[in-house]
Amino acid sequence: ERERLWRLRHKPAVTLDGEAVELLANIEMPEDSTAAVKAGAVGVGLFRSEFLFMGREARSLTRLPDEDEQYEAYRRAVEGMRGMPVTIRTIDIGADKPLDGKASKQEYLNPALGLRAIRWSLSEPAMFLVQLRAILRAAAHGPVHLLIPMLAHAREIRQTLALIEHAREELRAQGVPQGEVKLGAMIEIPAAAMMLRVFLKHFDFLSIGTNDLIQYTLAIDRADEAVSHLYDPCHPAVLRLVADTIAECRRQGKGVSVCGEMAGDVQFTRLLLGLGLRSFSMHPSQILAVKQEVLRADTGKLAPWAQQVLDSDEPSELLGH
Ligand code: PEP
Ligand code: MG
Repeated sequence: ERERLWRLRHKPAVTLDGEAVELLANIEMPEDSTAAVKAGAVGVGLFRSEFLFMGREARSLTRLPDEDEQYEAYRRAVEGMRGMPVTIRTIDIGADKPLDGKASKQEYLNPALGLRAIRWSLSEPAMFLVQLRAILRAAAHGPVHLLIPMLAHAREIRQTLALIEHAREELRAQGVPQGEVKLGAMIEIPAAAMMLRVFLKHFDFLSIGTNDLIQYTLAIDRADEAVSHLYDPCHPAVLRLVADTIAECRRQGKGVSVCGEMAGDVQFTRLLLGLGLRSFSMHPSQILAVKQEVLRADTGKLAPWAQQVLDSDEPSELLGH
């Protein structure tokens, strides 16, 4: 079976009815681009940049990566992908991903609802600017998409875009080379999925983070074993938010991708295709199995079935889970 899948790695991911599907990789370190290319990924859909910042004490690095160190890391990922696009997500520390020493405070009851991701970045604008500058500089070496996690407020969008513009102007004024980037937002808070119009006014593409979207929609801590049986990717409310996001992006001709675990789970490939998704980002080890599902799928037949699943009280029954 593994060998049969391996033979699919250079085969384009196209459905039986001729729909091209983009299969992208989630990576945590620049070196992971090697595995991504090997598995036949056509780009990186999610580079979780926080891994450059985490666990540095264990690696006897006592300071956070400065602009040049970050730039080198992003550039290595970009060069590793050989001209294919790399989506770099700005730092998403806090909650389940504490930054050593700094944000690992456990004094709050709900770290997942606290100062994490873009909230943290906006509270540390000097650090955020360093990261933005490093990403813009790396974009001079190949196609880069800049992705912002955990946005929920129009004000946060405005502040973020202003800082990106500021970083661009600084580099320009200093004569430092930078590249163009596409701008994207993660949809992983239900509020965001309910105000897509606002997001699509400002962003070129959206990426659905189902891991957090499920957690926040169902009020289930994604790391808590005691409630893991209630952590349900096919809860009708979750599917509704995912479906609406895909549909609205398609209506407006904007890019949309899923980069949560759901995208790499073959149990959901047909459903997501039926909902109109044509871009999936996942751990490199899952790409070939998902590609096999894509090659066997007929989106013309899946679309009406996906609408039935969406209208069902118990979608998992229709999904055969
Ligand atoms: C998600 O929330 O689905 C996601 C992709 O981001 P992370 O798992 O890094 O929070
Ligand atoms: Mg997330």
